[in-house]
Amino acid sequence: MTETRNNSEIIHYIGGALTAGGGTRTQPIYNPATGAVSRHVRLGNQQDLDAAVASARMAFPSWADTPPIRRTRVLFKFLELLSRNKDALAALITAEHGKVFTDAQGEVARGIDIVEFSCGIPQLLKGDFTDQVSTGMDNWTFRQPLGVVAGVTPFNFPVMVPMWMFPVAIAAGNCFVLKPSPIDPSPSLFIADLLKQAGLPDGVFNVVQGDKEVVDALLVHPDVKAVSFVGSTPIANYIYETGARHGKRVQALGGAKNHMVVMPDADVDQAVDALIGAGYGSAGERCMAISVAVLVGDVADKIMPKLVERTKALKVLNGTNLEAEMGPIVTPAAHARITGYIEQGVKEGAQLLADGRTFKYSTAGVGCDGGFWLGGTLFDHVTPEMSIYRDEIFGPVLSCVRVTDLAAAVQLINDHEFGNGVACFTRDGNVAREFSRCIQVGMVGINVPIPVPMAWHGFGGWKKSLFGDMHAYGEEGVRFYTKQKSIMQRWPESISKGAEFVMPTSK
Ligand code: NAD
Repeated sequence: MTETRNNSEIIHYIGGALTAGGGTRTQPIYNPATGAVSRHVRLGNQQDLDAAVASARMAFPSWADTPPIRRTRVLFKFLELLSRNKDALAALITAEHGKVFTDAQGEVARGIDIVEFSCGIPQLLKGDFTDQVSTGMDNWTFRQPLGVVAGVTPFNFPVMVPMWMFPVAIAAGNCFVLKPSPIDPSPSLFIADLLKQAGLPDGVFNVVQGDKEVVDALLVHPDVKAVSFVGSTPIANYIYETGARHGKRVQALGGAKNHMVVMPDADVDQAVDALIGAGYGSAGERCMAISVAVLVGDVADKIMPKLVERTKALKVLNGTNLEAEMGPIVTPAAHARITGYIEQGVKEGAQLLADGRTFKYSTAGVGCDGGFWLGGTLFDHVTPEMSIYRDEIFGPVLSCVRVTDLAAAVQLINDHEFGNGVACFTRDGNVAREFSRCIQVGMVGINVPIPVPMAWHGFGGWKKSLFGDMHAYGEEGVRFYTKQKSIMQRWPESISKGAEFVMPTSK
């Protein structure tokens, strides 16, 4: 399979084998640092999706019947292979996404966390048991897999986000169909290869490359029992509504506008470090990136000069350079969207203190003149009506809003339509506690700018950042990919004679 991966076209992986499928459309894959087209991805059609679901459906009875501890042994082997290949995976991410290599290594590590968590599935699937609910009768519950489940994932974490889904789903006994982003699809095939080497039976994990055509086929397919989605809010909303209308369990994680509040008592240097790292890391293309700094009281005047200096000093380089702090933007379309917002911010009256549009491409590295480059951009005096405040820009643009006190900061954040992540920098325990309790956001960091929960806690935002009831991975993930069954049992010796016409009660 390694050979095919290096060929110019990225294709599907169905029933344990690579296949070009029936779809004829393709899409270019760029190296965002140079702007060169490195290869193409084949975009699947309904028949390709049908084939993947059929292969998963065929594999399901035997996989679901495999004892959890034996399923886990495959995952342990996968874990070992991942550890050996983690830098190769990170390099693939950098080549197609553009994020800096060290950040890509972090992405792979956070994905590996979920595989480790999933290796504990025998413990997580353990049910409840009540002895003697009635004389001679016991009652217990346990959880069973759903069947064929699917994941639709975004470009910004081509390894970690699929790993939020398939390790938990597979460990729980489901068979999985992954529809990765067509922007950076190569890691999906690398992962399929490692799973095969780990001994995963054919059909348990499938990949269908593609776009809306495949997703639409998936959303209405009667054999797909659940869909996990991560991406932008309008698509998340569409996936949730359409999937639910077709009888599927859906968790759809959407976009974000994450605020970081800096209280007057915060350590200014720590807050600046946090804003620079969380605002510009991965070129702001993270759903947990900080895109709004909420500066309370007089802290603004202390923080702004340092923030301007640090934004202008960012090391914006080809992601393969180990010195790089920020790489390029993922596509020309994303680049145009972000520069459009910068123009809009200026028109709407925000104060532009660092303008990423002036970045000189040649300084990013040899061969980078044709890449999709932008420097760090910083706005001050942003107000809630401005589009740069309201919309998710998903780029290296940090907007600073000044407020008078904590109550105003909380109100501002609670009024925003998104509620993915938030942070508060303070030395005051009571402020931290009040903030954590009052804020209408799913994931909160106290002096932690990017509070992505660990594998066993589960990930999910509130408001328009998540459609559905359950968060990704952790115990919520296990619940999402399983259904509970309750068994009541007694034996002939304890059955009393005669039909009973009243509601049974404990005897
Ligand atoms: P996107 O919504 O454009 O695409 C996500 C997935 O949906 C891709 O697989 C894509 O092929 C598919 N898709 C796109 N348009 C579709 C359509 N009309 N119908 C059906 N499927 C469609 O998102 P993206 O640009 O790849 O990723 C960035 C977005 O993802 C940002 O909004 C970011 O906040 C969000 N995101 C959220 C989280 C989270 O956990 N909440 C995590 C990562 C990214």
